[in-house]
Amino acid sequence: NPTPDPHATTLSYDFHPPAPKPESPHHSFLLHRSLLLPPDTVTHASGTTLTLSPTRTIIDACGGAAVSCIGHANDEVLAATIAQMRSVSYVHTGAYTTAAAESLASIILNKNPYDLEKALFVSSGSEAVDAAMKLARQYFFETGRPERRNFVARKQSYHGNTIGAMSLSSNLPRKVPYEPLLLTNVSHVSPAYAYQYQLAEESEEQYVARLAEELDGEFRRLGPESVIAFVAEPIVGATSGCVPAPAGYFRAVREICDRYGILLVLDEVMCGMGRSGSYFAFEQEGVVPDILTIGKGLGGGYAPIAGVLVSRKVVDRLRDGTGMFNHGQTYQAHPLSCASALAVQKIIKRDGLVARCRSMGQFLEGELREALEGRKHVGNIRGRGLFWAVEFVQNKETKRSFEPRLEFGHRVQKKAFDLGVAIYPGAGTVDGVRGDHVLIAPPYTITETELRKIVEVVREAYDVVERSTMLY
Ligand code: PMP
Repeated sequence: NPTPDPHATTLSYDFHPPAPKPESPHHSFLLHRSLLLPPDTVTHASGTTLTLSPTRTIIDACGGAAVSCIGHANDEVLAATIAQMRSVSYVHTGAYTTAAAESLASIILNKNPYDLEKALFVSSGSEAVDAAMKLARQYFFETGRPERRNFVARKQSYHGNTIGAMSLSSNLPRKVPYEPLLLTNVSHVSPAYAYQYQLAEESEEQYVARLAEELDGEFRRLGPESVIAFVAEPIVGATSGCVPAPAGYFRAVREICDRYGILLVLDEVMCGMGRSGSYFAFEQEGVVPDILTIGKGLGGGYAPIAGVLVSRKVVDRLRDGTGMFNHGQTYQAHPLSCASALAVQKIIKRDGLVARCRSMGQFLEGELREALEGRKHVGNIRGRGLFWAVEFVQNKETKRSFEPRLEFGHRVQKKAFDLGVAIYPGAGTVDGVRGDHVLIAPPYTITETELRKIVEVVREAYDVVERSTMLY
């Protein structure tokens, strides 16, 4: 037998490249994600509307990827950002702080009942996840437990594109080419994804117990004394499509982590900051994480910003130890990003947008169920707040997804876009199996009239794709 190549790629997935098209001359200097399909140019964005070149407007029903939470071009945010630019446009956090950064941290943390004590602001969700990983490791380093070196995350999850965050993720299409670069001290347990993986003969309680047993087994396999943290999204966003965990799952997870002294890191980059109908998504789970990452809804897209919120337990350890987190980045807590995010958070609080997210979410759920629930290939409609997904299956009995080459969800998204509504697709190729969906995550300021229009377009797009799929 030939000796196995230790560097051989072990991950695999069905890759179906898009049909080749010529590169656009307008975009030839920018390295966009696809070299082949030129992205549309947006010339103006205001409220929930995007204007595409030359004069076409569409409704932004996904806020990019659940980013835009108060809509585009809000005057108050623009004024706050410009004022900040005039006062202090940049300082290095190694030597200085700014009122914008301090106020942003305090509006998020002040009087929170969860013992989240400090905030670190970075420029993207991926950076926040990497920083969270380093903080978690440092917690044990400072404790004199350097043998703690493993992370456990979940399959069908997404935590970002940097090396650390991608190692935690299991979005295979994004991971496979880079596998030799990724961390080898990360393992993955099953997702908490009842629609696809809860057995017919199993109650929700039994499903949760099975998942808890698997996690406990994974910790024991690794040796619990070697594990730094378990990392999970309270509501899985970008891979499987708005999958909340079954009731009791996170309580069971917290209990197992505590049993072994393992940290719980929750990634709310996508589902946090009101999106799920509570300010933090973990509030609906009855647990508190040791470290929390936040992102998209923090700044609402006005400037690049994400954050890590750190519990007193972890901060105390740093305080008693080296007294520092040696993780300086040039644009950390950038004043413009902090000022604009502060304005966004003030608006969310002042205008009661988290409550609005809940009520508009209920309206959206009702509309989605009425329009789509009975359809042949609509397997599951799920979500919380203004964070909803429609999962498509070939067969509702078996819940089998369409073959990835059919790109069912992608085609629904493309058709909806042609009809004037931007939604977010999720490939069914994730982990080679399930989760073909479209995601709807409009700004919290969306109106009922706009939501009706969005659902009408999604239904129409679905109908077109269903009809054309019969021809395959
Ligand atoms: N974590 C989660 C849960 C995410 O959804 C994302 C982005 N989709 C990230 C991390 C990475 O964030 P960013 O794209 O800002 O790096």
